[in-house]
Amino acid sequence: MEVQRSNKEKKYSYLSPSKFPVLKEPRVDCCENCICNRKRGSIFCTSCKKTFVGRIAERCQMHPEVAYLMDARYCAFCGAAAKDLQMGDPM
Ligand SMILES: [Zn+2]
Ligand SMILES: [Zn+2]
Repeated sequence: MEVQRSNKEKKYSYLSPSKFPVLKEPRVDCCENCICNRKRGSIFCTSCKKTFVGRIAERCQMHPEVAYLMDARYCAFCGAAAKDLQMGDPM
């Protein structure tokens, strides 16, 4: 029996966002409560204690294939993982 490779790749595809379109701005066709439309703000890094502007990367339930340039997966300064980043004041 042949293993369905496509299924497996689909399951893990979100780990390699380069395959998917990277958008500069949120899609206009998003609904109100979609996290694609969440506000950017100051992000505080608990690792290096620095602050930068953006949003902490989060996968949208409704648009799992979309990634945004402004979404930080790592600290812009020290490269700490998103778990070490805290969302501050909205801008
Ligand atoms: Zn979305
Ligand atoms: Zn940092």
